[in-house]
Amino acid sequence: MRRKRCRKKIILNENKNLNSTAEVSGFAELGISGVLLAAATRVGFEHPKPIQTLAIPPYLAGRDVLGLAQTGSGKTAAFALPILSRIVALGTKRIPRTARALILAPTRELAVQIEEVFRELAKGLHLSTALVLGGVSRGGQVKRLHMGVDVLVATPGRLVDLVREKDVSLAETRFLVLDEADRMLDMGFLPDVKRLVKATHRDRQTSLFSATMPAEIEALAGNLLKDPVRVEAAPQSTTASEIAQSVVMARTRQKRGILAGMLADQAIGPVLIFARTKHGADVVTRNLERDGFSAAVIHGNKSQNARQRALNGFRDGSVRILVATDIAARGIDVPGITHVVNYDLPDEAESYVHRIGRTGRNGADGIAITLCDPAETSKLRQVERIIRMRLPVTASHLDQPDPAPQPREKPARAEGAGQREQDHRPNRSRPAHKPGRKGPHGKPAGRPHEESGGENRHALPRQLMDKPAAKKPFRNRKRRGNFRRQASNAA
Ligand code: AMP
Repeated sequence: MRRKRCRKKIILNENKNLNSTAEVSGFAELGISGVLLAAATRVGFEHPKPIQTLAIPPYLAGRDVLGLAQTGSGKTAAFALPILSRIVALGTKRIPRTARALILAPTRELAVQIEEVFRELAKGLHLSTALVLGGVSRGGQVKRLHMGVDVLVATPGRLVDLVREKDVSLAETRFLVLDEADRMLDMGFLPDVKRLVKATHRDRQTSLFSATMPAEIEALAGNLLKDPVRVEAAPQSTTASEIAQSVVMARTRQKRGILAGMLADQAIGPVLIFARTKHGADVVTRNLERDGFSAAVIHGNKSQNARQRALNGFRDGSVRILVATDIAARGIDVPGITHVVNYDLPDEAESYVHRIGRTGRNGADGIAITLCDPAETSKLRQVERIIRMRLPVTASHLDQPDPAPQPREKPARAEGAGQREQDHRPNRSRPAHKPGRKGPHGKPAGRPHEESGGENRHALPRQLMDKPAAKKPFRNRKRRGNFRRQASNAA
């Protein structure tokens, strides 16, 4: 009896809470209600962002959505809130080894981040979430899927393997999201994405979100969507006006000294430095360390644990300088990054938009500085074409001599000589990538793959902590090496 009265009181309090939340939150007007509305307020989402205002109502009405919005503008909640709301409304029980919603993301770090947002918002809803990605052992992932999950966030390669081996079925998946959709539909991911889409329920509701959407990719996207609503919160490929962008002209050999000079100013907060290649990222990091800075590095040759650890350190403020390839360009949300430095121009102009979108997030100010060697000028022009603005050159060092080579310095490779970054390596169970194969817009194609990892399991979310991946036999490692020499796909 006493227990009954307590329970009643709790329900009354919850209701009181919900009513007061509904008054202040614009999300109620969009159709989000109950515990989910309270959860949105709890995580600090009181007023919907433009992309959320545009995308949530049609999604709740059951429409497919193509969402275009600047990076850092709240795309994750724009699909997470209506999906959770729709799953709650289903009211049905989970079926073992199935997932009701599937979110596909191009990088593991982004998948981890999306799953965190879902998990936070789902608190109190009795919905379960799971993460499937390469680079960690699959045992824990299979176990997690055994009872069935409501929301599965995954990178494509590992999920294809789990589906093939019947560890999970997507036959009951009625909500599908491709985040960073243009990347997901680029040739590197397309075969796996097609396989996964085909495995989902025929009557699924699909949504695609991205900050950039080249026309060829949009045509492909059209095949996945049924009578979609296209919502655009800002002209695509535009960069947030809060980001002050500039170019510093400097020869490659001068860039090290210029960067060190910039970073000597301790007032510069968390800085994310992008290099074009994995090798380049390592060289920049080593040189920073020789110049007296402490920096972490993240790229596709690092184990998943090392990648996540570097990112976590950057997020919690213990790492001030993070050097990265384009693996960290998309979607990664680290509040408070004051500066993004492009040590090299990216090979794909769209990557510039994603890279600098790591700063100036959620309305904050940010500074993006691009160091441009004269040999990179054509890439700079391509960037300016897609962002539809001229970038101001605020300094030029071209009339100054190159610095004398440092005794132990390994010079950065000449433009075009480095191997471009790729997040994914070839899957041994699939045919090898053919060098020179091209994707849409003539971009090189690659193939997704799982990486081994596992030296610091505490760097990963709890649900991924299980046995470290078995060491790859030498023969496979050698084959991977061959692939790496051949492949040239970006992260
Ligand atoms: P996203 O583009 O989804 O990575 O979100 C960028 C940032 O905006 C993240 O730090 C979110 O937590 C934050 N954010 C998203 N929606 C809202 C909202 N409605 N109110 C306040 N912050 C938000």
